[in-house]
Amino acid sequence: MDVVAPMQLKPGHYPTDVALRTVSEAIAKAGSQMLEIEPGELMAEYRPSLTAEGRNGLKAEIFLYDTLADGADFSSQLVERGTELFQRPLQLMNACPEDCDASCYRCLRSFKNKFEHILLDRYVGAELWNIYSRDNGRNSIRRDCRNRRHGFPATCGGKGRLGSRTKTGLAFR
Ligand SMILES: [Zn+2]
Repeated sequence: MDVVAPMQLKPGHYPTDVALRTVSEAIAKAGSQMLEIEPGELMAEYRPSLTAEGRNGLKAEIFLYDTLADGADFSSQLVERGTELFQRPLQLMNACPEDCDASCYRCLRSFKNKFEHILLDRYVGAELWNIYSRDNGRNSIRRDCRNRRHGFPATCGGKGRLGSRTKTGLAFR
């Protein structure tokens, strides 16, 4: 997920966490709705890219992964519906039934993300997602692997190296 200066996603800064956490939650909720699964079965995490661009706040990554040990191959299903996967999070952020000021249980909040409620601001998230989806489109979605213990992808190298802790997921870069 690239941004262009003066917009920045500076690592460790509160506005960065608000923007990326909100978008992550919107993507996870959108994916859950598309697959008709329970919200907690699909989660999203983010980090600054491990590059100079990431350190300078110009690149971040969001990963979508499922939480069930024997989960269905949701990533294939969602990749095939990439256009919807870009549009639906924006709809969730733009159109809250309560027309709330930042976030509420009708749009982005849930019990499972209760510790992040203070970070969820649908206006900030929509702004970032608008820029990202306009500039990147569905081609920037990639299948990826995720090391569950460390939280972020290591090399996608089949089952062997990371064993059962590796899950396939989707990366938004
Ligand atoms: Zn709301």
